[in-house]
Amino acid sequence: MNCKAVQARLSAYLDKELPGNEHTAVRAHVFDCASCREEMDSLATIKQMLGRCAAPEPAECFEERLIANVMRQVEPPRKHWNFQFRPAFTFAGIAACSMVATLLVLQFVLKADSAPVTQTTPDRSIAFDIQRDQIYSVGTDPMGGIPVINVQSDPNR
Ligand SMILES: [Zn+2]
Repeated sequence: MNCKAVQARLSAYLDKELPGNEHTAVRAHVFDCASCREEMDSLATIKQMLGRCAAPEPAECFEERLIANVMRQVEPPRKHWNFQFRPAFTFAGIAACSMVATLLVLQFVLKADSAPVTQTTPDRSIAFDIQRDQIYSVGTDPMGGIPVINVQSDPNR
């Protein structure tokens, strides 16, 4: 390996990024070549100094701008987005409407099945019949007047 090839690989050599055979060849050349060894030492000094520097903080809006740029590249703006999205919106709308209709029908059916049966009307009717029969059997109006039976006054008939 000549000096040019070695000096092109010095940074990778110092970072231990070279494959095993290249790493060995660079190390052997630097051991024998004073010029490349001097180049390697200065490069190592620069790397140490840079390593001591604090990494600069990104700007406040860097993350938002980065995400926006990535999203712009991942999803380029569509010219006919309305036409391309319409089938999806239509499907979603139909699905939502059918679900609501199903829930309404189910609610109606379940409510009709579980509604308690009220028997107030027949009971009141029977009570009226009993009262009328008692008035007939006594033969007088409880209020002392003539027995008056007004069947039409029963609101449930
Ligand atoms: Zn050399």
